Amino acid sequence: MGNRKVKNVLVTGGAGFIGSHTCVALAEAGYQPVVVDNFANSQSDVPDRIAQIIGTAIPVHQVDCTDETGMRNILDRYEDWHGVIHFAAYKAVGESVAHPLKYYRNNIGSLLTLLQLMNDYPLHHLVFSSSCTVYGEPDHLPVTEKSPVRPAESPYGYTKQVGEQIITDQQQVSPAMRSVLLRYFNPIGAHPSGKIGELPLGKPENLVPYVVQTAAGWRDQLTIFGRDYPTEDGTAIRDYIHVMDLAEAHVKALDWLHQQEAQETPGIFNIGTGRGHSVKEVVDTFEDATGIKVPHQFGSRRPGDVSSIYADATLAQRELNWSASRTLGEALHDAWMWQQTLKPPA
Ligand code: UDP
Repeated sequence: MGNRKVKNVLVTGGAGFIGSHTCVALAEAGYQPVVVDNFANSQSDVPDRIAQIIGTAIPVHQVDCTDETGMRNILDRYEDWHGVIHFAAYKAVGESVAHPLKYYRNNIGSLLTLLQLMNDYPLHHLVFSSSCTVYGEPDHLPVTEKSPVRPAESPYGYTKQVGEQIITDQQQVSPAMRSVLLRYFNPIGAHPSGKIGELPLGKPENLVPYVVQTAAGWRDQLTIFGRDYPTEDGTAIRDYIHVMDLAEAHVKALDWLHQQEAQETPGIFNIGTGRGHSVKEVVDTFEDATGIKVPHQFGSRRPGDVSSIYADATLAQRELNWSASRTLGEALHDAWMWQQTLKPPA
């Protein structure tokens, strides 16, 4: 038995949807995830479920990331920090329009606190959750990282754009800092064990949670928003990525950061599959993968939605040595397995 150094990785929002899957991917790659989460939008048994998958418990701290003293206490408790993956944020687009201050205070506040601590502690490597929403409706498909950033459609989207800018500005004045901005496309699915997945809170805004809840009989029918888009079947196109593929991209991004000798600006990577699927294709693929019908109707377009967006993910493949390996059918199957473990709303 050697004296192998533990590589602690702070995972803010580590009990959330993408955070919990990333903890699994980190552990599988030999890292020690250290979760900090205020459990505002996640269940308290998630760390136990992660432990069941990886076979060992992980440290968890119930602290709000905007609480600087609480965060300092956590950083003081560990000797070495290999990096931080910052997920902690609110993410409901509609709610952000109704409650902009809540979104700005939490999403921007937690990032400012974290960057201050990175400045004060030997914690230098940051992976930031960003989103393809920064591209708005792109002129050219697939979108590369050079595609222009468009004005945000919601306070949520704006917190991602501003977050990217804040990190970029701080990077300029922090010689030891290494950072990466991952622009996620549409994360879906769940861990194949069925032990962790996306937590449903009321009526889902996102497509796949709505599809699986309709299949389970929790919802009468899915409404497909818009059938007059300029796409082959008239429904909108997105790049759906299995959450475990996305989780693994974070591990690769962290590895990449440790190879960078110097950095003046953050690394920016699209994290998608490189393939677009229409809403109708998602429904058809779900029915094929599970044998279950999803009652649906067509409705009008949802305000703020773009017609088509999918990633050019070749930069991530070349630089991070990462690409998505799971299919849409697998992701929908895994989302369905997870859904079947959930209790219907009271
Ligand atoms: N969508 C839909 N019905 C729903 C939810 C979503 O037709 O109940 C469509 C939505 O209009 C978009 C796609 O599914 O074209 C993906 O939407 P989602 O909210 O999952 O992700 P977004 O791309 O908006 O971040």
